[in-house]
Amino acid sequence: MNIKEMIEEFLVCPKCKGQLELSTINNKTEESNICEYPILICRSCDVYYPIEDDIPVLLIDEARKLDGNN
Ligand SMILES: [Zn+2]
Repeated sequence: MNIKEMIEEFLVCPKCKGQLELSTINNKTEESNICEYPILICRSCDVYYPIEDDIPVLLIDEARKLDGNN
């Protein structure tokens, strides 16, 4: 079982307890470089949760709206 499978198997959305999908988001840094950040998406809530230093931040307060591009 790899990390991706483990995350999707064991981690759930703190709002709806639904399954999360490991993905990435592109963000511009201050130097205008495009950076890819890992995120966990909940399709039911239409939000994503950030992963900081390899630790998923599964807090309702940290949920961020998907902009529809994913
Ligand atoms: Zn959810």
